[in-house]
Amino acid sequence: MLRLTLDMDDVMADTHKKLVGIILKDFKTTLFEKDFEATPIRELLHPKQLARLRKIMDEPGFFADIEVKQDARETIYKLSHYYEIYVATAAMEFPNSFKDKFDWLKKHFDFIPWSNIVFCGHKSIIHSDYLIDDQVRNLDAFKGEGILFSAAHNLRDRSHRRVANWKEVAELFLPNK
Ligand SMILES: [Mg+2]
Repeated sequence: MLRLTLDMDDVMADTHKKLVGIILKDFKTTLFEKDFEATPIRELLHPKQLARLRKIMDEPGFFADIEVKQDARETIYKLSHYYEIYVATAAMEFPNSFKDKFDWLKKHFDFIPWSNIVFCGHKSIIHSDYLIDDQVRNLDAFKGEGILFSAAHNLRDRSHRRVANWKEVAELFLPNK
């Protein structure tokens, strides 16, 4: 079986949606929800606001209640019949996220065994046939075939094969029925 590795934030989990919700609700801003659709958050906020956002992400509980990306659960379940599914998340960036992320996977993706979950730093350590990730730097460091999952912060990249959503992942990786 080929090995297919998935990133969590902004691939399995709609982390961007949660961040935008916090910014619109709790930050002093003149921005609207649609402003975040095609521009990276880091280009829209003041450095002080970015630092505040990082602090919020570092609080225990932040990663516990993030919504699952649309069609992710059904698609990954189907993929698990054809591929060895691994999850690789750069959790070291937010050490307080470990328990939240582990529990989140158990809650929403109970069919992925603990042995296939990797909390890592650099993803260059991942040995897999495919990696689906929203961060260009993770795909650049990866030795197998990287697939870029579209997000507001990667729309300008032209260096990787791209999928817009989980429906496109299904089209790319699942046999045609
Ligand atoms: Mg990510």
